[in-house]
Amino acid sequence: MIIAANWKMNKTILEVNQFLDEFVSLVGENKHNKIIIAPSFVFLQKVIKFARKKNIKVFAQNCHQFASGAFTGEVSASMLSSIGVNGVILGHGERKAMGETCDMVNQKLKMAICYNLEVILCTGESENNRAEKEIEFQIKTSLKDINTDEKICIAYEPLWAIGSNKSASCENIYLKVKFIRDICKKMGFFNTKILYGGSVNLKNYVRILNIPKIDGILVGGASLKSKDFAEISSFNSSLH
Ligand code: PEP
Repeated sequence: MIIAANWKMNKTILEVNQFLDEFVSLVGENKHNKIIIAPSFVFLQKVIKFARKKNIKVFAQNCHQFASGAFTGEVSASMLSSIGVNGVILGHGERKAMGETCDMVNQKLKMAICYNLEVILCTGESENNRAEKEIEFQIKTSLKDINTDEKICIAYEPLWAIGSNKSASCENIYLKVKFIRDICKKMGFFNTKILYGGSVNLKNYVRILNIPKIDGILVGGASLKSKDFAEISSFNSSLH
């Protein structure tokens, strides 16, 4: 399973250090899952240093759509790659709310692939009754002119479920994962990994990870506490 933490704009360096110290003693050998942590840009190198010892992947939460240039305050895929970042989350609903479009996500995705970064591409509806239309548009636009899914996973994150404490039902997640997989297949992508994100917590992660054909989860709020994220990261399908 892929278990990814999106820390968003949270934690100070003291809190990052504390999390890493605690997590290291709690998480054990990490044999069952691919664990990903996406801290803020400023803590990437700190987390990378720690992650090497534990076989954890480190992702950024965004990158710019151009390789370099006069873009004050931005961070490029080449910069991320040059410090050993493994991948990047793109198209998160919170970035779309700040004006990011699917065309921009498509450019960013191409840049990420060009610099050998893995991608978690987020997709999800804003309105229930338009869900399939919105998801199909987002995926087709974001993956336009991309010819391999080798480094891409898609996270289904309905906007109403992010940070709301209202996770989507398992049946809904199952149907959307299937729908997304069918779109990917029609686009010629047969190995795309599909995750769910949106108010995953200690109470629901086992149920969600047991949904047939799901490949993992993207966790926001519940990934901020080392104890909670260590428990979630230790998920073992043969025991649960
Ligand atoms: C997210 O940030 O991708 C997310 C799903 O957040 P939360 O788990 O807090 O809903």
